[in-house]
Formats: sequence, C-alpha cells, structure tokens
Amino acid sequence: MNLKGKTALVTGSTSGIGLGIALTLAREGANVILNGFGDVDGPKAQVAALGVKVGYHGADMSKPADIAAMQTYADAEFGGIDILVNNAGIQHVAPVQEFPVEKWDAIIAINLTSAFHTTRLALPGMLAKGWGRIINIASAHGLVASAQKSAYVAAKHGLVGFTKSVALETATTGVTVNAICPGWVLTPLVQKQVDALAAKDGVDNDEAKRRLLAEKQPSLQFTTPEELGALTVFLCTDAAVNVRGQAWAMDGGWTAV
Ligand code: NAD
Repeated sequence: MNLKGKTALVTGSTSGIGLGIALTLAREGANVILNGFGDVDGPKAQVAALGVKVGYHGADMSKPADIAAMQTYADAEFGGIDILVNNAGIQHVAPVQEFPVEKWDAIIAINLTSAFHTTRLALPGMLAKGWGRIINIASAHGLVASAQKSAYVAAKHGLVGFTKSVALETATTGVTVNAICPGWVLTPLVQKQVDALAAKDGVDNDEAKRRLLAEKQPSLQFTTPEELGALTVFLCTDAAVNVRGQAWAMDGGWTAV
C-alpha cells in the first residue's frame, strides 16, 4: 500500500472529494499536486503536515492551455505524474429547455473534456515508466440518470465511456484506468442541493439531508471523501493491476436498485 516516491495530481482538490482523496494518497506516502479554486493555503498545509512534498497549480480545467501548463509544472517540479485523479467537476440543475448553453459547455468541458486533456498529456510519461494509475471520478449519474441534470449526466456517462476506451488502449501496459462512481457525498457541491431542497420544502438542514438520501441512496448514509480515498488507494496497489476499465460504484446501493 506504500505510494512513497509516486506523484499524484488530483484535479479539483481544494475542497470536498478531491481534497479527501489527496489526503488519503498523501497518508500512503504519495507526493501530491493540488488544483482548484478558493482557499489553497489550508489544503496545502493539511497535505504538507503528512510529510510529503506538496505542490499546487491553479489550472482552470475548462482551458486546455492551462492544463498543458500544469503538466509542464508537474514534469519540472515532480518528474511527471504517476497517479492522475480526474476529479474537478461542477453541476447545474434545470430542465433541458431552460438549460443555459454556457452552463452546458462548462459542465462538458470541466467534467469530461478536461480528462481527455490531462490523460493525453500524462499518459506518455506513465507508459515510459511502465507504471501509472488514472482514476476518473464519475458519479452514480455516470451509470443512471436523474431529471434536470442533462449536462451532468451526459458528462459523467461520457467519462465512464472514456475510461473504458482508454483502459482497453492501455490493457497490456502497467497503466490502469478506472472510474469511481460516488453517490451522495456531503461536500459544498451537495450542500447547495440540500439548501435548495430545504428552501423548496420549507424544512431544516437535517430534514433536507434525510430527504435527499431517502430519494436515492438506500443506505441512508452519505459516502465520505475518505472512503473514496481508500478505494482510490486500493486501485493504486499492485493487487489491483488487473482491474481495468471498471466503473466502481460507492453509492450506498443507489445503482443496485
Ligand atoms: P466541490 O464543489 O466540493 O469541489 C469541486 C472542486 O473542483 C473544488 O476544488 C473546485 O475548486 C474545483 N473546480 C471547480 N471548477 C474548476 C475548474 N474549472 N478548474 C479547476 N478546478 C475546478 O465538489 P465535490 O462534491 O467534491 O465534487 C468532486 C467531484 O466528485 C466532481 O467531479 C463531482 O461531480 C463528483 N461527484 C460528487 C458527488 C457528491 O455527492 N458530492 C457525487 C458524485 C460525484
């Protein structure tokens, strides 16, 4: 389980799931490059406290030129990327006929196309080293749909398909490519939906959380970033070398029903 000497780039890792995964990888000894917006010093200090090398690049994942600059930074400062976690993502909820075109474009760019760019840039270095892990954070919405999330569902289904295709291209190499499909995780992204539900139904925060879970997640428990980190770490082990092109649901039974 020891990832000492490996470098992980986790996109969108200044908060939520990405930060949880970055911290779990760092606990296993991996050096970490953080990415994302908002508070950077806090997450950097949390990772550094685990005794690994930590970096940050503020690439906007909707911009291919930024992503290329982040790869250049990773090559120069860390000797490349061994573990690529494509996690950055946004969401917008609206009926399709009212869905703003710019929101559609942003969701497809950040949640799907960014993984194409990071992968095509990081993969040659992994193949040259003979070892690599690419882990795409999709969603239960990459396996099943919900209404009013057309762009998000399309992007996450696309990310699962992209995962499978690249896994087949790399099947005989030391690079594995998989997706993880979380159900509800109580991050800032989901708290916004809890707030909207509380306002719509006129209920408090706890009742809104209960209703959100009851609608989709049979376990009635949120998945945590740390649990998703543990699955990510497993996919990085040598024992997982034959796990290729899979979409791992960690969703409290959401997609089992
Ligand atoms: P979050 O809002 O807490 O964090 C998102 C991260 O992405 C932040 O660090 C943010 O700064 C970064 N980010 C946003 N736009 C960016 C951009 N253009 N460029 C670079 N970074 C950007 O969200 P989260 O809930 O932790 O979600 C992380 C991933 O997990 C997303 O892909 C999301 O779709 C997926 N996911 C979340 C849940 C959930 O229940 N929270 C469930 C399934 C899948």
